[in-house]
Amino acid sequence: MPKRKAAPSERSKLANYLVGQVCWGLMSAVQAQTIAQLAVEDAEEAPNELKRLAKVGSSGQCPQNVWRDLKRSMIAVHLPEPQDVLIENEVYKILYPHEVLASLYQNYRDMFNAMFDVTEAARFWDDVKNTKMFREHPLSGRSDQARALPIGLHGDGAPVSAKGKTWQKSADFLSFSSLIGSGAHRLLHIIISAVWTLGLSQFLGESLDEKRRVMQQYWKHVAWSLHACWLGTWPTEDPEGNPLRNQAAGKPLAGGLFFVLWVLQADLEFQHNFWGLPHWTNNLPCNRCGCTRDDFLNFNGPWVSSGYDKKTWNARCKAAKVCALFALAGCWGGTVQPDLMHTKYLGVDQYFLASVIFVLARVKQIHNWFELLETYWKDRQVTSHFRSMKDSMWAPKDRQGETDSRQQAPA
Ligand SMILES: [Zn+2]
Repeated sequence: MPKRKAAPSERSKLANYLVGQVCWGLMSAVQAQTIAQLAVEDAEEAPNELKRLAKVGSSGQCPQNVWRDLKRSMIAVHLPEPQDVLIENEVYKILYPHEVLASLYQNYRDMFNAMFDVTEAARFWDDVKNTKMFREHPLSGRSDQARALPIGLHGDGAPVSAKGKTWQKSADFLSFSSLIGSGAHRLLHIIISAVWTLGLSQFLGESLDEKRRVMQQYWKHVAWSLHACWLGTWPTEDPEGNPLRNQAAGKPLAGGLFFVLWVLQADLEFQHNFWGLPHWTNNLPCNRCGCTRDDFLNFNGPWVSSGYDKKTWNARCKAAKVCALFALAGCWGGTVQPDLMHTKYLGVDQYFLASVIFVLARVKQIHNWFELLETYWKDRQVTSHFRSMKDSMWAPKDRQGETDSRQQAPA
């Protein structure tokens, strides 16, 4: 029985942790290598995994090679690579959602299950079954809703380098995510592509129509992949409609599960530039109804009952001609969710919330609103309360003594 002792010293918890930190972008590869090297020097006999990590980049002598070596020696990745898509002589890299989902299902089932709580699917569709969105969706007539997993698409621009400087460079990011996941936020969002904002406007000129013409080709590729997700099978045609004759074509992506694009989310700028939705300063600024710029704050206005259905939206909004996503099953203006975090100025929350409380306490005269709030916090196990807010701040003058005494009692 020769040499059975080697086994326990193979795996290293520290190496595993360090590689994880690097992969999540929380630590540089060089930092991880340095820590591993110091740990190996300190330890009497370090595990092999840690030794291998310490040796990458010629033991840190060539820092520029550390990441390359790390990928070669430590990380066995079974995920698809982003594909090069040539649009108007410019290469765009797209990580196709259907390829990622199939790979997660095949190779990382735990991760897939964390991303999609499959047992939640039926409940999700049951929760939304009375919405206009669901009634308009082809899924509503199907009996296999429990196998349909809802996903969302999120687009946003973000500064990438020289943040805050005049030479700042931004990119527009597109990602997708599960809507029934239980894992951390960063586990649920998967990047599809990043496009240099500057590159797009410089390379293509400033004309929005020209940009959109190019983006239309880009969306065709994204929509092609999302259509495969909806079918739940590997594509039988390429994005241009040419037949694909590979072995996988037509076979299930994820054991018969399929993915429903349920939400399109982005800020108003992205919605306008990339999806062709109305500009917020238009006379008809809304994607969901026929409100006008002059009456959208009039809550008794005609727009209140003029919400579009799919047919009206198709007739009124030109977005379907701009963005191929709107040709996907069940996808229309109603799929676009206004993203509150992106359509307001930072710092307005306090006024917004105060207005809600004002309406409750003064207009609707719900005198026990604060108790209701406390009950809500307790029921939902909310840990972050408004600590400095008191009922008495909102009570009308003639009720202030009354509410103050109530405030003191439970404390
Ligand atoms: Zn509206």
